[in-house]
Amino acid sequence: MKKSIFFILFSVGLTMAQTSNFAGQLYNGYENYKESTITTKRIRHSIIVPLINRHKENPLFEISTAGVSPQGREIYLISAGTGKTRIFMWSQMHGDEPTATMAIFDMLNFLSANDHLNNYRQKILENVTIYFMPMVNPDGAELFKRRNSFDIDINRDASRNTTPEARTLNDIFLYLKADFGFNLHDQSIYTAAGRTHRSAAISFLAPAINYEKNVDSVRLNAMHLISELYSMLQEYIPGHIGRYDDGYEPRAFGDNFQKMGTSTILVETGGWRNDPEKQFLRKINFILLSSAILSIADQSYKKTDVNIYEQIPYNEDVLKDLLLRNMTYRKDSIEVKIDISADRVEKSMDGKILYNSVIDDAGDLSTLYGYEDHDFTGYEIHPGKIYASKKSPSVLKNDFIDSLLAQGYTDIFYEGKMKSAEYEFPLNITRDKNYRNNISIGSNASFYLTKDDKVQLVFVNGFMYDVENKISLLKNSAVKGSK
Ligand SMILES: [Zn+2]
Repeated sequence: MKKSIFFILFSVGLTMAQTSNFAGQLYNGYENYKESTITTKRIRHSIIVPLINRHKENPLFEISTAGVSPQGREIYLISAGTGKTRIFMWSQMHGDEPTATMAIFDMLNFLSANDHLNNYRQKILENVTIYFMPMVNPDGAELFKRRNSFDIDINRDASRNTTPEARTLNDIFLYLKADFGFNLHDQSIYTAAGRTHRSAAISFLAPAINYEKNVDSVRLNAMHLISELYSMLQEYIPGHIGRYDDGYEPRAFGDNFQKMGTSTILVETGGWRNDPEKQFLRKINFILLSSAILSIADQSYKKTDVNIYEQIPYNEDVLKDLLLRNMTYRKDSIEVKIDISADRVEKSMDGKILYNSVIDDAGDLSTLYGYEDHDFTGYEIHPGKIYASKKSPSVLKNDFIDSLLAQGYTDIFYEGKMKSAEYEFPLNITRDKNYRNNISIGSNASFYLTKDDKVQLVFVNGFMYDVENKISLLKNSAVKGSK
């Protein structure tokens, strides 16, 4: 009796150690598997077609067209392995949620490699059959938007099943009746893991099967697997893992699939500081999803303490891009203490990512956190000044621009003709002579901070410039008004 308990404990330790050892090898050797033709998060269908065609030549994979989007783009199903346990992973049913799609193509490279990890690869391919459906919503991906070409949210069409994308996903689901399902999404980068400053880089959920949130054996398996993956990930993104809201949504896929007998895991990729293209989080997805497959192949998840699931902190919407605390603000001869937050609204122009930083809250923001978070006790905030220039901004010398910044100018008003390189200019350009900066919600985040009546810091379009040290963290300025 004693001996068998010892044996069980020993084998639990061994399999958990195996999963984390595997994850470590993938983490360190990631560059060997990374799909090098995918370099940014704005991946379109035309980028994955040649990859699909390349993998079609590999006898390891079976690749078919599972469906076609309303605009005629193929939705693929790729399978690998011969095991009797079936795993179904689908990604990007929301067109602007691409991180797992990138990771799936890294996984295909891993599965078809031939190297020192062959023992793991063999264990996976013998024990499970994996089915990938990357980019369920290629029409949305084309425009990097959430919904499909009918402006329908695919993840609210699981039950009505009227869009071609939802029908494709439902048909394959019913055909496979997989043991495990992975519903792969991206969440807001402003989500934190608990009420903390730490972004929820990854959030998990074992979706509910009813409003009462009962736990049956199907959902319990998903909770076991999440417990193992959560423990594994702590090594790479400690404190940055959250639990998604578990309210039942009868129109969503995860909830329906769980109810129909497939242990379903929702993975939501969030934000990571200085990773706007989500390339680090793509790597984390690769490790996470590969480890999940190994865990299912050797059934190590069954031995993980399921109480770990309940300890994962819930997602909290408490993050901002920029949070400036405890400043003094004077207006109409009244002085108040104020915190200001701003979010950097991202847009793509000519293949480049540009930001428009907008003040989104003001007042006591002590319950919120910033990716960039500063305490400016003792500083006074002022709206950025606007310098009217007779010369084109592009001919202004750097020294002159530095002197403008040192006086609290954040914008230049210029009436003449300009080229489109305006965004590269260190100060905002306004084309409207009536434009004024404001410390108010919805305004562009352009202001300066003084201490002892001296300009110390200038924020141009939400990016900081340190006057004394001439350190610029500027990414791009804003162009305001039109002409
Ligand atoms: Zn989503």
